[in-house]
Amino acid sequence: MGVVATLKLSEDINNKIAWQRFLPSGPIAFLPLTKNLSSLVWSTTIEHAKALLQLSEEQFVDALNGAICKSYEHNGIIDQATKSFDSFLRLMNCSSDAIRQFPPKILGIEECSRAAFPLGFGHATSYIGKGVVLVGDSAHRIHPLAGQGVNLGFGDVTCLNKVLGDAVYSGSKIDNLSYLKEYETERQRHNIPTMLAVEGLHRLYNSDLTPLVLLRSLGLQATHALNPLKVII
Ligand SMILES: Cc1cc2nc3c(=O)[nH]c(=O)nc-3n(C[C@H](O)[C@H](O)[C@H](O)COP(=O)(O)OP(=O)(O)OC[C@H]3O[C@@H](n4cnc5c(N)ncnc54)[C@H](O)[C@@H]3O)c2cc1C
Repeated sequence: MGVVATLKLSEDINNKIAWQRFLPSGPIAFLPLTKNLSSLVWSTTIEHAKALLQLSEEQFVDALNGAICKSYEHNGIIDQATKSFDSFLRLMNCSSDAIRQFPPKILGIEECSRAAFPLGFGHATSYIGKGVVLVGDSAHRIHPLAGQGVNLGFGDVTCLNKVLGDAVYSGSKIDNLSYLKEYETERQRHNIPTMLAVEGLHRLYNSDLTPLVLLRSLGLQATHALNPLKVII
């Protein structure tokens, strides 16, 4: 489930950073709204989501601040590997000297903003039919961890708009399946790899197997240190 709420930050800040922490139960994310409001998406188990909805506001805020700050036992092998990789990156002059920042502290939540939604992964094998076109989440649903869901839908709309325009300009009917097929092919070529990448990330971060934790730790370190890679991603 994804538990959502509008969060009040403890002070006005230059609130332009999206924070995401991968907890054993799933990622928790704060997405900036204004200088003192952020939007929460906390992915967790069904039981935990239900329990979070039952908490008083004060308990919920404590749970949130705890989830974002709690320290977990470190794996010695991973620590050693990431330290060595950091030394290597410094040697190669690739290390990023960005100042470490910390997530904002949460003071409270906006009244009635707390809710939970089921999360899922799903993809329609066909996006089109006679007089029917699927766009957005009716065609594809992904885990919200990378904030890509709505972008996929916007892409669908842009593509469909172009394809329908082409159909009308060429004197065809807008439900002409050969035009709609163009929409389906173009969007599936884009949506399926994106969905698989997001699902792959979700699975990678859902595991505590040492080789996978090592892989994601070094991957993030490399992405952080290598600016061109960061820009591509
Ligand atoms: C917890 C959570 C967090 C998310 N966070 C992000 C994020 O940070 N960034 C991001 O890009 N995406 C995020 N997403 C995904 C994003 O919300 C969806 O991809 C997006 O809302 C899909 O838009 P849509 O218009 O296709 O569908 P929806 O937003 O689901 O809209 C469909 C609408 O149709 C209505 N409807 C359904 N059935 C009928 C019916 N029979 N008759 C009439 N109306 C009907 C529904 O009530 C709804 O209003 C998140 C999703 C969840 C669940």
